[in-house]
Amino acid sequence: MALYEAAVQTLIDELGRLPGVGPKSAQRIAYYLLKTPPEDANRLARAISEAKARVTWCRRCFNISEGELCAFCRDDRRDPALLCVVEEPRDIVAVERTHEFQGRYHVLQGAISPIEGIGPEQLRIKELVRRVGEEGVREVILATNPNIEGEATAMYLARLLKPLGLRVTRIASGLPVGGDLEYADEVTLGRALEGRREIDA
Ligand SMILES: [Zn+2]
Repeated sequence: MALYEAAVQTLIDELGRLPGVGPKSAQRIAYYLLKTPPEDANRLARAISEAKARVTWCRRCFNISEGELCAFCRDDRRDPALLCVVEEPRDIVAVERTHEFQGRYHVLQGAISPIEGIGPEQLRIKELVRRVGEEGVREVILATNPNIEGEATAMYLARLLKPLGLRVTRIASGLPVGGDLEYADEVTLGRALEGRREIDA
């Protein structure tokens, strides 16, 4: 005999595929949702569908966006000559919390990882090089994560970008090694940005 009704099993399976949700949590959330009034559960379902339908990638920087261009690319007060390169859209939130950065962003949508079969061509690197040429970028700050993949990606980008004659910097060490940008507190990340150094490639 099956432990759960089919529909409940499907719900638990789907919840269990979310990042950071283990089988126990998936089961707990599923039972919570089943107990909740239909309008509350439907509001959650609608929020997910609407976000999926309305949010897309910014065509310039590949941040998440509700229009062609994201809020940062639309904001004229941001310095287009200063470009901060991050792995994921959530890293932009981490950098913004520091209030140390007034330039624009470029989201790679991942990092180079031979183990996972992710090479430079799977990332938004071609687009980055094109932007550097077209937008008069003077400095690229490499704010990839301080782990093996992030460092390898930063080195790769430095070798690619330095011959183009612009300043290429890496956020300072001092961030927890092996961690992700998003887990760094804003003071530490702010200092890492401020203490960025020209990268040797
Ligand atoms: Zn954008």
